[in-house]
Amino acid sequence: MNSIPFNKPYLHGRELVYIAQAVASGKISGDGLFTKKCHAFFEQRYGFGKTLMTTSCTDALEMSAILLNIQPGDEVIVPAFTFVSSANAFALRGARIVFADSEADNPNVSVAAIEALISPRTKAIVVVHYAGVACDMDPILALAAQHSIPVVEDAAQAIDSYYKGRPLGGLGVMGTFSFHETKNVIAGEGGLLAINDSAYVNRAEIIREKGTNRSSFFRGEVDKYGWVDIGSSFLPSDIISAYLFAQLENLDLIQARRKQLWQQYWDALAPVLPKFGIGLPVIPDYATNNAHMFYLVCPSLELRTRLIEGLRSHGIHAVFHYLSLHSSPYYADKHDGRRIPNSDRFSDCLVRLPLFYELSDEQCAYVCDKIIQILSENR
Ligand SMILES: *Cc1c(COP(=O)(O)O)cnc(C)c1O
Repeated sequence: MNSIPFNKPYLHGRELVYIAQAVASGKISGDGLFTKKCHAFFEQRYGFGKTLMTTSCTDALEMSAILLNIQPGDEVIVPAFTFVSSANAFALRGARIVFADSEADNPNVSVAAIEALISPRTKAIVVVHYAGVACDMDPILALAAQHSIPVVEDAAQAIDSYYKGRPLGGLGVMGTFSFHETKNVIAGEGGLLAINDSAYVNRAEIIREKGTNRSSFFRGEVDKYGWVDIGSSFLPSDIISAYLFAQLENLDLIQARRKQLWQQYWDALAPVLPKFGIGLPVIPDYATNNAHMFYLVCPSLELRTRLIEGLRSHGIHAVFHYLSLHSSPYYADKHDGRRIPNSDRFSDCLVRLPLFYELSDEQCAYVCDKIIQILSENR
C-alpha cells in the first residue's frame, strides 16, 4: 500500500475550465462572474440573506469583528479548542478573549461554560461547529438574546451541515466559511461571510472594499465613491471563485463520497475501539454529520502518540489538532488562569484520520486494520 496522506486537495475537472473562462472574460479582480455565481449558490441553497466571498474564513471573521464594532477592552467569548483565527480576529480589534471550555463528550463549546462567562462587557459570542457538527444552538441563541449579545458562527468546517434542519452559518448574526484546501469544498484559500441580519449588509460591503462605497457606486446608488469607513481588501480574485464554483456544482457528489468514507470508518471502528477506551465522534440528535472529519479520542497522550507513530510506520498520516488557545504562547499570560480541562484533553488525546474525496475504500479499510492492529499489539 502506498503511503496515505492526511488530506489531498481534490480537483473535480471543471475548475480549470472556469478559471480559463474567468480569464477570457477580461475581469479577474473581485466580484466578477464567478464570485456572483458563488454568492447565488449559497443564497439559494441555504437561504442565507446575503453572502460575500472573502479571501479566507479568517478574513470573514475579521470582517465580523469590525461589523460588530469590537473595541479595546470588550470581551469576546471564544472556545479554547479552536483554530487561532476564531480568537485572533477579535484580538486584532483589542478585545479581551475569554476562553470557554468544550463539552465533556465532544469538542464543541459547552453552553454552561458560555453562560458562566457572560459579563456586562461581553460584546460577542463565537461558536465553532467542530468537525462540521452543530453546537447546541437553541440554548446558546436564547442566552445571547437574553443578554443582547450577537453570536458569530465560525462555520469553517460546517458547509452543508444543519442544526434541527436549519443550515449552519445561518443561525447567528453572521456565519463564516472556509474553502482552504483542507475543507470539504476548496479553492486553495478562500472564505465566505454569511450575513443573517440585514442591518449589517451595507457596512459589510464597505468594509470588504477597503472602507469605500464602491459596491453602491457600481450599482449606481451613489455618483462617486470614496472612503467612508474602515475596511480592508477582503474580496478574492474571480479566479478563486471560478475554482470554487466548480466544486460547489459537485457539492452533493463530494458530500456523498465523504459520508461513505466516514461511515466506513464508523462501521469498522465503532464496534472495536471502545474496548480500548477510545472515544468516537459524537453526533447529537439535533445535528447532521457533513463528514468533514473522522476523529478518535484516546484515553491518554501516550496512547495517542503511540497510535500516530504506529500509523506513520505503516505510511499513514494521522494528525492531532488544536492546542488549547488559552495556554498558547501569545495568550498564556493574558488568560485569567481558569483551568479549561476538556479543551486540554482534546488537545492531548484527539487524533484525526485521513479523509478526502479520493481516499479509496481499500485505503480506508487499511487505515482501520492498522489502527486495530496497533492497539492490539499495545495491550
Ligand atoms: C480552517 C478554519 C479556519 C480558518 O480558515 P481559513 O479559510 O484558512 O482562514 C477558522 N476556523 C476554523 C474552525 C477552521 O477549521
